[in-house]
This record gives sequence, structure tokens and C-alpha cells, in this order.
Amino acid sequence: KHAAKIRLDDVKGEQSREKDKADRATSEQVLDQRTRMILLQMINRGFVSEVHGAISTGKEANVYGAVAYPDLDGPPIQRAIKVYKTAILSFKDRERYITGEHRFKSGAEKGNSRKMVKLWAEKEFRNLRRIHSAGIKCPEPIQLKLHVLVMELLGDRKGYAYPRLRDAAISGDDSEEVWRSLYIQLLGIMRRMYQVCRLVHADLSEYNILYNNRQLYIIDVSQSVEHDHPRSLEFLRMDIKNTGDFFRREGVDILPDRVVFDFVTV
Ligand code: ATP
Ligand code: MN
Repeated sequence: KHAAKIRLDDVKGEQSREKDKADRATSEQVLDQRTRMILLQMINRGFVSEVHGAISTGKEANVYGAVAYPDLDGPPIQRAIKVYKTAILSFKDRERYITGEHRFKSGAEKGNSRKMVKLWAEKEFRNLRRIHSAGIKCPEPIQLKLHVLVMELLGDRKGYAYPRLRDAAISGDDSEEVWRSLYIQLLGIMRRMYQVCRLVHADLSEYNILYNNRQLYIIDVSQSVEHDHPRSLEFLRMDIKNTGDFFRREGVDILPDRVVFDFVTV
């Protein structure tokens, strides 16, 4: 078996208290003791073997690259680990997504931020599972423990993550045609998500779509809601508007929002 190799200093827990404090003061990226324990447990169980640096550090979550060696001599598998932050403030305005969400009636204790982040991680895990099962391109969910979610890395074999659609370098003679086909592709994804997964993304934009080789990948679905959520159609209209605006700026002759809305929902 491969020896678990951890490159992230924070995971080792070997830092002195003083250094730890200093790090926390200078950077938000330091993992707390609980998160380290969860990562070590996942390493021991073989879900990941190495945890690498951050792919993204945001308000609500950090995403780390990781590698697993499932077989003795098999190739490494690239993974992504999303660690939700226990920052109460950024989760406050997320209440509107959970209110009316029948899957989370009991657990949604307001004010308990540790329970809240666990809830968001759970939501993302379940939504990813549903979206992935429906054949929509998204990270395959692998493992969940409290506020730590392990998923497939959308990236190349070296572990470089695909760019967000916003940063995709689409150029050349056929770029106009590529943009048009991506727009059509996204309409199909939204429809399938609604009709088959019974979900509305609710934060769909060029920032939460990754791009590679003429293929779109949906990410960041912790706030996605059931189609019978009281505000789901409002969120869907917002998704349609935001993505439509983006494709229009890229020169695509987009359909009117209400036409897209009917295409998705009927
Ligand atoms: P925040 O709002 O705090 O920035 P977030 O909730 O938006 O975090 P995500 O959108 O899920 O978090 O992830 C942040 C970034 O990490 C994404 O924009 C994407 O670049 C990268 N990322 C997330 N998941 C994956 C993945 N499975 N494979 C490759 N890259 C990923
Ligand atoms: Mn995001």
C-alpha cells in the first residue's frame, strides 16, 4: 500500500501553537483541528492519499486538490476536496434557500454554524449525486464527512483544474459556433436538471460552470433547490437571466428568457 503522503503542512498538525496562531492571523487558509482530523481519517481509509494546495479559497469554502491511489500499482486518481467554512456571516443570507426545503426541515438550526455547514455539505453531496446519476457532467461525489466533501477533480491527469467558463479560452475561426453550441448545451443541462433531477441550480453563472474541450461541467450545487421549493421558479428565472446575459455578451443570439423558461419547465 502507498504510504499516505501529505504535503499540506496544516494537515500534519505538527505546528506549534504559536506558529498556528500566527498562521491563523495572517491567513484564512489554515485548517482547524477538526478538519485535519477528518482529512487524516479519509487518508487512513484510502479515499485520498495526498492533499495538495488550494485550487480556490473563497468566502464560504476552500477547494483543495488531492490524489488517491486506489490500486497498488494503478494510476493516481485526481480528487477535489471542498472544505466548508464555519463562518456564520456568509451563511446568513443562504437562509432563503433552506427555508421551504422539506429535505432539511429539522436540521436547519439557525445560529449553529457548525450544523449549518454540515447541512450545506450534505446538500451539495446529495445534489451532486442526483445530478451525476442523471448523466449531467459534474464532479462525481465520493465521500462526505461533516463539512468536508471529497469529489472527482474536473481537470487533467496532472491535477490542473479546468477553467471556469468565465475564464475559458475559446478562440479561433469556429469560436462563434462553439459559443452557440455551448449555449444550446447549457439549455439542455438546465432542462435535464429540472425534468430529471427535479432541481434548480439557483446560483448558475459562468463562475459555477467549468469548461473543457467543448464540454460544460456544473459545480457548486449546495444551494440548489427542489423544483417544489416555494421560490424555485424565481431562482430558475435568475439562472436563466444570468447565463443568458453571459452568452449574449459572448455574442450569442440568445432566446428570450420566457422561451427558455418554458423549454426548461414544460
Ligand atoms: P466560495 O463562494 O467561497 O468561493 P464556492 O461555494 O463558490 O466557494 P465552488 O464554486 O464549489 O465553491 O468551488 C470554488 C472553485 O473551486 C470553483 O470556481 C472551481 O474553480 C474550483 N472547483 C470546485 N470544485 C471543483 C472540482 N470538482 N474540480 C475542479 N475544480 C473545482
Ligand atoms: Mn462557486
